[in-house]
Amino acid sequence: MLALAGYPLGLRFLFVDPNDDSPAGEIAPLLATDYSAPEALDALARCDVVTYEFENVPVEAVRALEARVTVYPSVRALGVSQDRLLEKQCFRELGIPTAPFFDVGSLAELEAAVEATGFPAVLKTRRLGYDGKGQRVLKSSADVGPAFDELGGVPLLLEGFIAFERELSLLALRSATGETAFYPLAENHHEGGILRLSLSPAPNVDAELDATARRYGRALLDELGYVGVLALELFEARGVLYANELAPRVHNSGHHSIEGSRTSQFENHLRAVLGLPLGSTEPIGYSAMLNCIGSMPDEKTVLAMPDAHLHDYGKVPRAGRKLGHVTLRAPDRRTLAERLAALRPKIWDIG
Ligand code: AMP
Repeated sequence: MLALAGYPLGLRFLFVDPNDDSPAGEIAPLLATDYSAPEALDALARCDVVTYEFENVPVEAVRALEARVTVYPSVRALGVSQDRLLEKQCFRELGIPTAPFFDVGSLAELEAAVEATGFPAVLKTRRLGYDGKGQRVLKSSADVGPAFDELGGVPLLLEGFIAFERELSLLALRSATGETAFYPLAENHHEGGILRLSLSPAPNVDAELDATARRYGRALLDELGYVGVLALELFEARGVLYANELAPRVHNSGHHSIEGSRTSQFENHLRAVLGLPLGSTEPIGYSAMLNCIGSMPDEKTVLAMPDAHLHDYGKVPRAGRKLGHVTLRAPDRRTLAERLAALRPKIWDIG
């Protein structure tokens, strides 16, 4: 999606992905090798600018590249986002509310931490968790030992459970020139830890909530010396926004922006890392983005819907894998709700 957004600007791309069936290989040269492989680093170092859209690329490889070529976002942003403890500490230092959290290295530390959080609580691996993987909800003391046995052996984080009313995300961006912009908040619905549906702009957002989210986004851009699109995932509970995590990249909750915004997150990320003027983040009507998980819907059914936009990533189907998405657009919320009610069963009943 980055390349598709960049071609009209006259840009050329080289992708590195350890998987040789990466969809990027369909539309641009692909080096299917480890992120740290010398031939990958040499090829990337010959580019004008290097960016990433996966937060688990090795920090050492990015640091090595930074000495040879411009790399955005910063290696600091990457390092913070890879470790839930550093991430939460960063939020705390910036005065951004989070769930109470405790570093857990042993069963004894976990037992002490649950004393402080009470139940329910959420035990997470500090690194390499995504889409709800690497975490367990602890409902009572009977869950403590088994959860530690399952996840232990690696550094963990225990979080107090936030009984949120909804999940929101903010996409903040800054260009290499210092220009900043924000997309409107999106409202996100997960199932089994995987994003299913994202509504943008999120309904029922007043000026204060919006301003608070932007203040947090701006604090993070400043703290991390950030260039590019940054996603901040938030919980809303009784009018308070709690930061859950950040993603130093274009984000699934911003995919609607391809059709639902004046400028997509992908184009704006490229503009940002190239130091070009940013494009307008103003929404075009109201959008719903539905992820196609495990299987793709019938394309004729989707394309027969007014203002529905199908994106098939060309990935090999696998249970739980995001294979594509559909963005529905409408001029008002009511029409969007009607179109969504008609389309959802067509996308999620299969597979
Ligand atoms: P994460 O991998 O941190 O994004 O968590 C995946 C999902 O688990 C989130 O989108 C929430 O729905 C839920 N979750 C994570 N942490 C908490 C928490 N501290 N309190 C309540 N729900 C949580």
